[in-house]
Amino acid sequence: MRFQKEFMDSFQSFLDSGNYILGDQVKKFEQDYAIYCGVKYCIGVSNGLDAIKLILEAYKLLGKLKEGDEIIVPANTYIATILAVSNTGLVPTLVEPNIETFNINPIEILKVITPKTKAVLGVHLYGLLYDVEELEVFCKAHNLLLIEDAAQAHGATHKDGRKAGNLSNASAFSFYPTKNLGALGDGGAITTNDAELDKTIRRLRNYGRISAYENDIKGYNCRLDELQAAFLRIKLNHLDLDNDRRRNVAQFYFKNIDSKKIKLPNCNTLKEHVFHQFVIRSKERDILKEYLLEKGIETLIHYPIPIHKQNAYKELNCLSLPITEKINDEVLSLPVYPTLTMEELKKIVNAINNYC
Ligand SMILES: *Cc1c(COP(=O)(O)O)cnc(C)c1O
Repeated sequence: MRFQKEFMDSFQSFLDSGNYILGDQVKKFEQDYAIYCGVKYCIGVSNGLDAIKLILEAYKLLGKLKEGDEIIVPANTYIATILAVSNTGLVPTLVEPNIETFNINPIEILKVITPKTKAVLGVHLYGLLYDVEELEVFCKAHNLLLIEDAAQAHGATHKDGRKAGNLSNASAFSFYPTKNLGALGDGGAITTNDAELDKTIRRLRNYGRISAYENDIKGYNCRLDELQAAFLRIKLNHLDLDNDRRRNVAQFYFKNIDSKKIKLPNCNTLKEHVFHQFVIRSKERDILKEYLLEKGIETLIHYPIPIHKQNAYKELNCLSLPITEKINDEVLSLPVYPTLTMEELKKIVNAINNYC
């Protein structure tokens, strides 16, 4: 296993410390990750879904959001983005993406915005930053909070140098094991430059307490695990290198895949993309997937069922979102993990180029 020795050493010091909840490791990881993202504050939490929920709950406590407010979300995201909104008593408004970037399209937001709309929850889907300037200008003009779901974009960097996690009022990260920065279990974090929000979320994640037995607000138990924080500190040292490896894989695909039946992802600048997924489109997606599997190449679909077609969201089943539905029908994620070998890459590219 990668980093085995470092993980074992870190586990040994964890045992020796005897400090298992909100100890030094969480504190140090929060400092490390705040510096990495270029923000003032980082709060370690239990997972990515809780990270988004805590941001929304904190804004409710601070009077910036209230029950029933509408939150703009991309329709083609992972369901957790939207669960966070409905689980906190807010109403998700689903918006169609730009089919080239797979990210939310501000022109589409204009069509669904109402006086109840209070925030945009943007997602850097598959690791590509949403259109940062456009969303910033849009949210300012309409007096909306801008929140990032950065669960797929650790380390993605805007051309002005700012990183994911520092492109909005508050950002949510997941450290689920398969993310670009992954723990060995569940984990998440919130980053922000807002001192008041930081203070509120810190209380919310730990029963709302301000001292051992004094509770200020009705909170939760959403703490980042001490051991996961220790592992994350090790993994964080390798994040930039891993992201570069993912970019190298992507560049190999861009250079060598040559098939009329496939549309490669669009990416103007490589820095803004950390290739959490390398997502191609094909009208014959299902046949192509089967063909690749026969050649021993495993691919995935992110995501096969649109949220507005899920049973969990019956109230949205009547929506028609043709771009999102087309994406769900056509996307296929090729392997893009940092440890792919050149041999494996050539095999994948050959198989795709020989598909007809
Ligand atoms: C993974 C993910 C989440 C949820 O994170 P968990 O840690 O699994 O709760 C939220 N949003 C997006 C876009 C994700 O990819």
